[in-house]
Amino acid sequence: MRAKLIAGNWKMNGNLQSAIDLVEGIMAGDPGKARLAVCPPAVYLMKVGGMLAQSKIALGAQNVCDRESGAFTGEIAASMLKECGCSYAIVGHSERRALYGESDELIAARFAMALQAGITPILCLGETLDEREDGVTEAVVARQLDAAIDGSGIAGIAQSVIAYEPVWAIGTGKVASPAQAQAVHAFIRDRLAQLDSEVAQQVQILYGGSMNPANAAELLSQSDIDGGLIGGAALKANDFLAIAQAV
Ligand code: PEP
Repeated sequence: MRAKLIAGNWKMNGNLQSAIDLVEGIMAGDPGKARLAVCPPAVYLMKVGGMLAQSKIALGAQNVCDRESGAFTGEIAASMLKECGCSYAIVGHSERRALYGESDELIAARFAMALQAGITPILCLGETLDEREDGVTEAVVARQLDAAIDGSGIAGIAQSVIAYEPVWAIGTGKVASPAQAQAVHAFIRDRLAQLDSEVAQQVQILYGGSMNPANAAELLSQSDIDGGLIGGAALKANDFLAIAQAV
């Protein structure tokens, strides 16, 4: 059976003190059977990584550079994230795609670079509301997934986590219904199974988009939902832990 992962994407929120308070709050609580990961802003990775060193909670970055090193102002190399203690890196978040113009190809290169450094990429896929209404959800998710497969092969996918995050559900309070989410998760797993059924069965597929303590249990009980990528509700230790306990 696939382990359930609850990962918190803190985005660009808070400050050093609130990051410390949040991680202390999470460490003091009981995550139940779930595995936890937190993805603080990059400047707090070192601090939070130090705090988590003796705990089972994993550290993740919110992005990773597509190059190894050099003149790439503002970017952070996978090897540097590794030094901070990161075991995960989010790639292809819809905010990166929409607000910073990251293409499928760039995201595939970031994905590959994380893998090369021994960091598990959390590859975000998802359609906009217009795309859902136009009936192209599966085509969009397939295109985004295939870019990573083209770059790193199914063997790369085997070393990754996938997060299905419908853009219309992110930060909107409009959660996908368990059936809507399950349908896309099953589609992703079926697509992977066409290449390698073992990898398809083993890879964790998280749901993200307004998951909270009230809706988590139903989403997490779907057969192809293996955890959550949590934004807003990850900023309160009690809510984050309550989602974990819903596993
Ligand atoms: C996210 O940004 O990855 C996310 C899921 O955000 P929220 O939970 O706030 O919708």
